[in-house]
Amino acid sequence: MTLNGGSSATFRNDKNGLRIGIDLGGSKIEGVLMSADASEWTRCRVPTPRDDYEGTIAAIVDLKNRLIQGVAAEPRIGVAVPGSISPATGLMQNANSTWLNARPFDLDLALAVGMPVRIANDANCFALSEAIDGAAENAGIVFGVILGTGCGGGLVIHGSLVDGPRAIGGEWGHNPLPWAKPEEYIGPLCWCGRKGCLEAWLSGPGMAADHARVTGETYTAVELAARARDGNCAARATLARHADRLARGLAHVVNILDPDVIVLGGGLSQLSHLYELLPKLMSPHIFADQSSVVVRAPKWGEASGVRGAARLWDL
Ligand SMILES: [Zn+2]
Repeated sequence: MTLNGGSSATFRNDKNGLRIGIDLGGSKIEGVLMSADASEWTRCRVPTPRDDYEGTIAAIVDLKNRLIQGVAAEPRIGVAVPGSISPATGLMQNANSTWLNARPFDLDLALAVGMPVRIANDANCFALSEAIDGAAENAGIVFGVILGTGCGGGLVIHGSLVDGPRAIGGEWGHNPLPWAKPEEYIGPLCWCGRKGCLEAWLSGPGMAADHARVTGETYTAVELAARARDGNCAARATLARHADRLARGLAHVVNILDPDVIVLGGGLSQLSHLYELLPKLMSPHIFADQSSVVVRAPKWGEASGVRGAARLWDL
């Protein structure tokens, strides 16, 4: 671990000081120590202790201690999580890292680190980061989408995160696939208990499962992308079905929120064909005479989760 700016400097623990951003993913926990001018001082990553609530909290404490090693300050901490804290119960909800659900994660984590923490949905943190100084900088209405092991969404309007009384603002992954074709209805079972959720179609595992259902072949989304690049017809067909479904899912959102920019994040945002295809595929479903929608790749990529989390104390 290194401090790019030198470890002897001290920083004020105030609005202009350092921030820690942590992105709690299903397979890894990433942390960043970021200064007020958004430059990154230190970055660390540890594996997520799966199915282990106490272990997950301990791993975050360890990560925080590694990040502040040699730093004479106690930076405020923001955490991106794969769900949200229910305002009604104070308990975690909707995490596909299901061992976090129904636990007072923010309070337990604050106790463990010895200071208050701010927690937000990981897709919200992604959207915030890309809206502030990323691919959607200066855009008024920004819809950020994470397509990875899950399928999340976050909404930022004029620099502010939009969330409501249920803490599910921007969530779209567990709505059903719109304009479903007969062969797509009712759709695959999702981990949330519903059938036909967008996440079950559009996430990496969702794409892989679709390929397996159609062809009988078992490949991961990464393998399918590589096979498609190599000209494999079945893999190309799977990516085409995925793009068409993603376009329908996004068009549904556009008809409600009318975003200036959609930014894609998560592992599947690296599929470069999406940026050319999506606007064309979405167009027939957009309820406007000007049906072109701006879809961009993320500026910060995987770093957007930690960068957005680090900014939660600045909102
Ligand atoms: Zn679902």
